[in-house]
Amino acid sequence: WKNAPESLRVLAQAARAHGPRIMTIHEDERVSYEANYRAVAALAHWLAGQGIAKGDRVAMAMRNLPEFPALLFAVASIGAIAVPLNAWWTGDELAFGLSDSGARILFADDERHQRLASCYADLPGLEQVVVTRAAAPLDGAVRLEDLIGTPHDWPALPDRALPDRALPDTRVAADDPVTIFYTSGTTGRPKGALGTHRNMMTNIMTSGFVGARTYLRRGAPVPDPAPRVMLTVVPLFHVTACSAGLMGAIAGGSTSIYMRKWDALRAMEIIEREKVNVTGGVPTVAWQLLEHPDRGRYDLSSLESIAYGGAPSAPELVKRIYEEFGALPGNGWGMTETMATVTSNAAEDYLARPKSAGPAAAVADLKITDEDGHELAVGEIGELWARGPMVVTGYWNRPEATAETFVDGWVRTGDLGCLDEDGFVYILDRAKDMIIRGGENIYSTEVENVLYAHPAVTDCALIGLPHRTLGEEPAAVVHLSPGSHATEAELQAWVRERLAVFKTPVAIRFVSETLPRNANGKILKRELRSLFEDRVAA
Ligand code: ATP
Ligand code: MG
Repeated sequence: WKNAPESLRVLAQAARAHGPRIMTIHEDERVSYEANYRAVAALAHWLAGQGIAKGDRVAMAMRNLPEFPALLFAVASIGAIAVPLNAWWTGDELAFGLSDSGARILFADDERHQRLASCYADLPGLEQVVVTRAAAPLDGAVRLEDLIGTPHDWPALPDRALPDRALPDTRVAADDPVTIFYTSGTTGRPKGALGTHRNMMTNIMTSGFVGARTYLRRGAPVPDPAPRVMLTVVPLFHVTACSAGLMGAIAGGSTSIYMRKWDALRAMEIIEREKVNVTGGVPTVAWQLLEHPDRGRYDLSSLESIAYGGAPSAPELVKRIYEEFGALPGNGWGMTETMATVTSNAAEDYLARPKSAGPAAAVADLKITDEDGHELAVGEIGELWARGPMVVTGYWNRPEATAETFVDGWVRTGDLGCLDEDGFVYILDRAKDMIIRGGENIYSTEVENVLYAHPAVTDCALIGLPHRTLGEEPAAVVHLSPGSHATEAELQAWVRERLAVFKTPVAIRFVSETLPRNANGKILKRELRSLFEDRVAA
């Protein structure tokens, strides 16, 4: 244990420092730090008993459950690599994750297990499936409950699971790999990013630092790193919730509440009942809370901060969070390749520069380059690069993609943006989504932000449509807030009054639901193109 890297010591320290404090809440399950630690130790011994050793992959496919953090640490503690799979994936997609990572053991909840049923035969490398919360008797798989009981039973797990004596004796170094998180697959097939203990630890420290800064900038005395109550509504299989959210929460002794499924009304009930201080995750969560017609019925005054990242967010949102919730807005930019946060903007800084994702974390560097990789000056738009101890070593089993993306210690992000004189970054678009209309660049977020500023608009996306002579032209898909009204011509005029004419969407389609997003809150722009088929055909 003495040889364990900090990333594991964090958990033991948390168990000792916060023992009986509640670490996770899920429905009627309340797991203390101590109970979680016992589950981790029991699972680690079981895994070691199965012959799982350093570098082996252990996959997890489940909703946000208290088992998730326990498993993650159990796998990490024996030097193995945890592979959280996207719970939204179909059976075939999950099978891809299992075979791509070469997982030897899978921990799945019942739903994922069912989805995979017809795929297991094609996964010879998968030696064991452990199912949690199985509804029916299992055929061939082990029940997690038979190994460690349900979270209600964890406080009673054997004594060997006490800090200091608990974990199997494995030497783990800071640069040993600990996770493979898959990218969201927004621009192509998801890639596994191989993260190390050092990467994970960097994110724990970054999130603690950002939290403290939020209060500092507000001019108030910095509270002792008092545990907070956090409502985690984004999936733990993504780095944002796992690395920045969960790990940071554990380091600070906070309580994380998991929801079975995102639902704004249910979230408000929980915020009121559990006096939640922090929530967010992705911008949509904030929008849906703000726009909910029953918001006035709930006491949400415990909210101190609503922070998000992972997708562009409109400046409009920043002001509304502050004014209507009395909470501090926060925005972080990062990617799976950086194990979550690289830049963050919070509190007064964010109110002053609501279009920015903030400056780089203290240990990170940013640069903007042209297409040939030459660094550009302040204010010039180009590709964003990031460097620092959070940047992962590369993609799992993808030497070519790794060589392309990870260059001289930097990760090239594929995002377009610029830096201001104080080092605040402005993310304008993904290089792949930028629209070039007759040689003029149109950055999605610029037009989207203008649309968001219209009082009737609560969700929108700009996409490029093919055009015979211009190459591409911009079109928008818009969702209006319930009860409000706006026409295509009105919105076009709204944009035209505020931006150069060539940026005005040539067509706007209205949808009755909010726009389709993937599990990580990113709009599926590719799916939106079909709304304009008539136009493209003409
Ligand atoms: P893939 O790489 O498989 O196409 P992805 O890039 O969506 O998927 P992630 O690693 O989950 O996978 O997302 C990182 C991307 O999310 C960034 O490159 C950026 O485009 C976007 N992003 C993250 N944070 C922010 C933010 N605060 N503002 C705007 N965009 C953001
Ligand atoms: Mg990406």
